[in-house]
Amino acid sequence: MTERLYYENAYLWEFDAVVTRIREGKKQGTWEAALDRSAFYPTSGGQPFDTGRITFAGGEAAVNDVESDREGEVWHTVDKPIPEGTAVHGIIDGKRRTDHMEQHGGEHMLAGAIWEKLQGTTIGLHLGLEDSTIDVQLPEERTHLTEDEIRMLEDTVNERIRADAPIRCWFPETEELERLPLRKKPTVSEHVRIVAMGDFEMVACGGTHPSSTGRIGLIKILSVIPAKGKARVSFVCGGRAAALFQKYMRCADKAGAALSCPVDKLSRAASELKSRLAEAERKANRFETRELLEKFRAAENSGDLRGITLAPVITEEADARAVSAAVSEYIAEKGRLLLLAAGERLTFARSADVKIDMSELIRRVGRGGGRPDLASGAGIPECVNVARKILITEYK
Ligand SMILES: [Zn+2]
Repeated sequence: MTERLYYENAYLWEFDAVVTRIREGKKQGTWEAALDRSAFYPTSGGQPFDTGRITFAGGEAAVNDVESDREGEVWHTVDKPIPEGTAVHGIIDGKRRTDHMEQHGGEHMLAGAIWEKLQGTTIGLHLGLEDSTIDVQLPEERTHLTEDEIRMLEDTVNERIRADAPIRCWFPETEELERLPLRKKPTVSEHVRIVAMGDFEMVACGGTHPSSTGRIGLIKILSVIPAKGKARVSFVCGGRAAALFQKYMRCADKAGAALSCPVDKLSRAASELKSRLAEAERKANRFETRELLEKFRAAENSGDLRGITLAPVITEEADARAVSAAVSEYIAEKGRLLLLAAGERLTFARSADVKIDMSELIRRVGRGGGRPDLASGAGIPECVNVARKILITEYK
């Protein structure tokens, strides 16, 4: 069984050990080395493994994965075989581990606050590359948190982080364990390791934790969404929270500069811009509709068909809403038939009293379909002239 040095000191980045076993790894060109003692954290409890290096006389190997087995042996996946009995020096990527401890420590504080303030039970932690999530079972099967609850939780946890309370981990005797006010019952019955964060959180955990709450830095809840009957809370802590704040500030500053307004007025400026844009679009649309109607009227050739005003129109691409409005207005009058190609978009339409099937006509000259009075499709502008000739031949 590997002696786990991180239990005693979570900031131990270097240590000496001896290789007790070596075997081939799961991937070709990798090996798994077991050490008599190790400060490398193996993936468990939602906290990912540490990475780093193992140096030894005549060589160095990269540690790309760390796992523990049922017997308590910690296996380090390395890119070089290291013979059994070799004395080695382990060097951990402290930046990666510190980040994990900030997220993991913040998760404890958040879970503790959720339990204390909302009687919610936290199940599991997923520490992702960008953010972390916990699933929370809330009373009355609620799967959401209100904005006020989210702010209250953030304020509570951040205040407790700033209090910089000590974080302590230890293995209590059974008698002491039974008396401890744990947030939830331990899942194991032997060698139970307890973590206590000031008076705010106490629970069984085998992970690595910062030495005080202050070293968690900061927490920010990003979202709360329903997931499998629970509330899935996503959050960031420490350096990740600071980096996110910087990123969001950069975005907000750029948006503020673009809209010529201070960041705290952004949402009002964006709403105003949106309504001004919508109004401008409405005006442009009305103008385009009027222009189309003028083109329809200019193309009218009433002499071609029996009592029907025929308007064959070929024009450039137009806004679909403007086309629709102009066509509807045009055929509201009696005795009209419109053959329109706006770019490659065909619209054949006629007044209610004209009994010619537009849907059938459009299929004879291009692609498309629709109702007997209004059909649309795609085709070259020449389709309009072909359709006109058909009408003149068949309905003159
Ligand atoms: Zn923990």
